[in-house]
Amino acid sequence: MNRTNLRDAPVSRMLSEHFSLRELCTSGTAVRLGIRNRPDEVAVSRLQLLCEHVLEPLRCRFGVIRITSGYRCPQLNRAVGGSPRSQHLRGEAADIHISNIEVGQKMFRFIRENLDFDQLLFEHIRGNGVCWLHVSYRPAEESPGKIVRTNRRQAIYNYVVPPSLRRKALAC
Ligand SMILES: [Zn+2]
Repeated sequence: MNRTNLRDAPVSRMLSEHFSLRELCTSGTAVRLGIRNRPDEVAVSRLQLLCEHVLEPLRCRFGVIRITSGYRCPQLNRAVGGSPRSQHLRGEAADIHISNIEVGQKMFRFIRENLDFDQLLFEHIRGNGVCWLHVSYRPAEESPGKIVRTNRRQAIYNYVVPPSLRRKALAC
């Protein structure tokens, strides 16, 4: 596969039935700072798995959902104050807008109880009411003769965003 061609693939390309590459790499911060936030083919294939296993089933149950942050290139991840080990860097994670706490709680429970995922966080910033869902999915690793499941299914309801990472809540 030609890496250069794929990097230049149109962002209108669909990753799954309802999610385009554009939705998973659009960022207001990237636009403001002139960062070209485009994944390579490995990250694109991870984003496809995230869509297929988590985002499509979630959309099917709750209707249209809005992704506030999907893939982040290293420059964008630094700009929004993301963790250096963030799964957003790998194309494994998405942040989902929550219209209100009740819907957010229902989405959290639905993912935790019905879907395969790696990490699920109901993230919030203490004091200001800003909250969102962070969910990730890791591809299975293949070693000779067997496939190793790598998803941890770690769900944390009350995840308070560390002070050092708070900028990302305000600048996706
Ligand atoms: Zn996130």
